[in-house]
Amino acid sequence: MAGLVSRFLAILSALLLCPSPRASADDVDGKIDAILARLSLREKLAQLWLVDGHDFGGWKPEHLELARQGAIGGTFNVRGDEYTRPMQEAALSSGPGIPLIFSFDVLHGYRTVFPIPLAEAASWNPELAERCSAVAAKESRSANVSWVFAPVADIARDPRWGRVVEGAGEDPVLCAAFTKARVQGLQGENISAPDRVAACLKHFAGCGAAEGGRDYNLASLSVRELRQTYFPPFKAGIEAGARTVMPAFSSIDGIPATCSPWLLNGVLRDEWGFSGLVVSDYDSVGQLLNHRVAGSYRDAALGSLRAGLDVELWGRCFNELNHGPLSKSDLQRVDQALRRLLRLKFDLGIFDRPFGDPALEAATLLAPDHLRLAREAATEACVLLKNEGSTLPIPPEARKIAVIGPFANDRKSQLGSWWGDGKEDDVVTIADAIRERLGDQGEIITADGAPAKSTGFSFAKPTDGSEAAKDADFIVVVVGEHAEKTGEAASSASLDLPTAQMEIVRQVAELGKPYAVVLSTGRPLTVTWIAEHAPAVLLAWQGGTMGGPAVADLLFGDANPSGKLPLTFPRSVGQIPINYNATPTSRPLDEANKWTSRYQDIPTSPLWPFGHGLSYTYFSVSAPLISKTRFQPDEKIPFQVTVRNEGNRDGAEVVQIYLRDAVATVTRPNLELKAFRKVRLAAGEAKTIDFTLDPDDLGFWMPDGSFRVEPGQFVLMSGNSSANLAESHFTVR
Ligand code: BGC
Repeated sequence: MAGLVSRFLAILSALLLCPSPRASADDVDGKIDAILARLSLREKLAQLWLVDGHDFGGWKPEHLELARQGAIGGTFNVRGDEYTRPMQEAALSSGPGIPLIFSFDVLHGYRTVFPIPLAEAASWNPELAERCSAVAAKESRSANVSWVFAPVADIARDPRWGRVVEGAGEDPVLCAAFTKARVQGLQGENISAPDRVAACLKHFAGCGAAEGGRDYNLASLSVRELRQTYFPPFKAGIEAGARTVMPAFSSIDGIPATCSPWLLNGVLRDEWGFSGLVVSDYDSVGQLLNHRVAGSYRDAALGSLRAGLDVELWGRCFNELNHGPLSKSDLQRVDQALRRLLRLKFDLGIFDRPFGDPALEAATLLAPDHLRLAREAATEACVLLKNEGSTLPIPPEARKIAVIGPFANDRKSQLGSWWGDGKEDDVVTIADAIRERLGDQGEIITADGAPAKSTGFSFAKPTDGSEAAKDADFIVVVVGEHAEKTGEAASSASLDLPTAQMEIVRQVAELGKPYAVVLSTGRPLTVTWIAEHAPAVLLAWQGGTMGGPAVADLLFGDANPSGKLPLTFPRSVGQIPINYNATPTSRPLDEANKWTSRYQDIPTSPLWPFGHGLSYTYFSVSAPLISKTRFQPDEKIPFQVTVRNEGNRDGAEVVQIYLRDAVATVTRPNLELKAFRKVRLAAGEAKTIDFTLDPDDLGFWMPDGSFRVEPGQFVLMSGNSSANLAESHFTVR
């Protein structure tokens, strides 16, 4: 009998302690209630705090001690079983016994590094981005990281802002599509799955509109501009089920996002129905003192908590709430915030599986199929900007190839500015890949020619660049910007290539041999001379672990370029802002007429427009074929576009659909991207694609804050760049 009882008790306690993954919402709520009931205010506040780890993934000794005391809710940067296990053991042995959550910035891959997010967006292939994010999630989770601070849903229109590298560029529709795909890839159907993580949409909102392109600066945005341009990617991410959101460092209309009740409680939760967790940016609560909207850390914490912030990253202001009385509603807010964090931990399955698995981690990181995907993504990300006289692909008879320039072999830059747990040793560089491709059929000559990190003001002389190229049959010049020149806190007033690198290009040009410039960069550069003089320009961005093979595949014609610019390339910094979807002015541009909206010293047009990108074949895109010309305001608008591969090579084209509202109550953009589709076509093949515009695609925000579709005429356009479009018309009555 005693044996039976103890067996029964053992089964009962197993059932209570190990909730099945299908534990109902009530079960989880009950468990959360029980946890809240046994924690003091001090313990609750401590749980709402995430501390950092070392860049290499290790924990800091003082944090291990805090975990032992149950005084933190989780960490960021700490990763891998080696480092997460001791922290987790410490937390589980503490009084509260609540497992830690391990988070990390996984923007374009964990160990297998994919192209920088801006480059991935240049593929105009969100399905590809979803697959890359799914691999990033799988690798992260194998290393016991279950929450990633991605995707970046910021619209970025100013390439001086170093963080343009992190998002999907200047357009709300493109950025929304990529945000949605990345959230789906990271989270999948169920974040408790062993290969998925929780996503975090950041930085809500307007972070990319930092004035002057200067990081952390305020954003001067009207509510209309926010709703029309900056909100849609976030809204798409919320609709895709993103579990967490990070507010921007910046302020809008005088209120920093971290403590903005309008943004967090209003738009995010009340309007969009977000029920997940809001985590601060790095010390952004404490930085409310720098904004001078709070006079003490306690006030900063109170303001943020009341505005809707739940968890604090790095800074420790919430702890101040333990000192001095709190109102009942503030105490309830603390409980609500912790409830959200615990809910996330339960849903991720962290209570059931708090530890990593070193064998799984070893088998998952850099798996062969991950590297294959990284190569595919890097190939689709490259943009062929110019190709005069079919300079590329490199002709088969060219045997001696010179690969010159500081980025042909720069492993660090190829990993980009948010490289996750990527290692330089994993990287296959452009020079490595060309060497491999040539094998014993050819010869490669390499030289850096200029330092990778010199600035635009460096007078360093190229040493061996053009010298080395003298005997080559074809020259590949790989120039650009070091990865440290983009990313956070990496704003630049100049987007010119460093002098020493320009010098190499000029010297190569003087040799009179066929050559191509490969641009390795995290943002648009003002390479006007190169655009005019180089016969071919391939934008390689920072392609990640397999960026080198991707560039080699394209240079030799083993793959056909299909990328398109997600961000306009200006001729000069003075043209910024120069996004394609500008609104009309009182005197529309006419280069021949002084009294129009233009510059007197340079053309007003960009160097390369949004949506631009060439192929080794040629495509024609028809005007939209609309079945009728009149629609009701609530009617869907179906139409077709035919795209034909007119050349003799297989390839892929991005059919882009733009709309213009001919006359409206408020001034509307000249062009707005409404839809796009990447289509693969064999040589000579044609496809007719069906598109449908929803009534909402025609609407806009009125001065009274309402959203409306106004009757009138619309111009519908299709093409393969924002500067190469064919028009049709329809009317809404
Ligand atoms: C960045 C965030 C990032 C955080 C943690 C901040 O400085 O703005 O994007 O998630 O650091 O690394």
